[in-house]
Amino acid sequence: MRSTADPDLARLRFVLTRPSHPGNIGAAARALRTMGFERLALVAPARFPDPEATALAAGADAVLATAALHATLPDALADCTLALGLSARRRGVSLPELDPRAAAAVVWTALRRGETVALVFGNERTGLENDELARCHVMVRIPSVDDFSSLNLAQAVQVMAYELRMVERADAAAATTTAPAREPPAGGADMERFFDHLFAALHTIDFHKGRAPITIEQRLRKLFLRAKPDARELRVLHGILSDAERMARLAGRATSEQTAQQGQDRAAGAGKGADGDQ
Ligand code: SAH
Repeated sequence: MRSTADPDLARLRFVLTRPSHPGNIGAAARALRTMGFERLALVAPARFPDPEATALAAGADAVLATAALHATLPDALADCTLALGLSARRRGVSLPELDPRAAAAVVWTALRRGETVALVFGNERTGLENDELARCHVMVRIPSVDDFSSLNLAQAVQVMAYELRMVERADAAAATTTAPAREPPAGGADMERFFDHLFAALHTIDFHKGRAPITIEQRLRKLFLRAKPDARELRVLHGILSDAERMARLAGRATSEQTAQQGQDRAAGAGKGADGDQ
């Protein structure tokens, strides 16, 4: 399982408080396993172990086998520095309230800081009691509709586990996209040298054709400043511009040689004419 790869996961647990249906314990184990989590803690379950739990775990047996059993919620939270209580209803306890997505971000930040975190779920019928919620730092409410707000216990576990996985994946993706050591973007002076070269080259190739260059120069400036090229990329761009300038000069020389030749031809022709006149 993944916890060996990510030590932070060993400090995250899903706590089911007084679950009455063993099937929900199994389904919660399955929900955790599908999202790559594995630490289940059970506070005074009505029946556990139980064949119904095993059946609904659908193969997530290791999660059940390693589930921690506690007599009370304070026992389950003894080493936790952050506890988030999931509740469909705002109880008499006033706690900061988050939705699962925001809660997932909070959980990962805490885990990355080395904290031990619990997500606490309530009993199927009563939910989390006030004294249970009072042990939590934050309340998490899945934004269900007001007149039918209560999800099945294992489904609430699934929603939370899914949101946690999404944050984990986003973090991993961000880490890999920023990972390749990229050269830092070129500094202002280098960018200005590049712009001088670019604008001069545009003149050389007669890009503006008599129009005022200012608008296009501003657009190009914006484009290249947004791209943040590094020194190596600027070298390539300078190379392209130098080649374009060289080709323009060659073409210009060829044209002027051609013009000169034509001039000479014309002069010679005129001479001939003059000769003929003679
Ligand atoms: N009848 C209970 C609901 C129990 S559902 C009540 O009204 O509180 C079992 C557990 O699933 C809840 O204690 C809670 O931890 C979780 N749960 C269900 N629906 C939820 C929701 N909309 N938001 C957050 N947690 C929810």
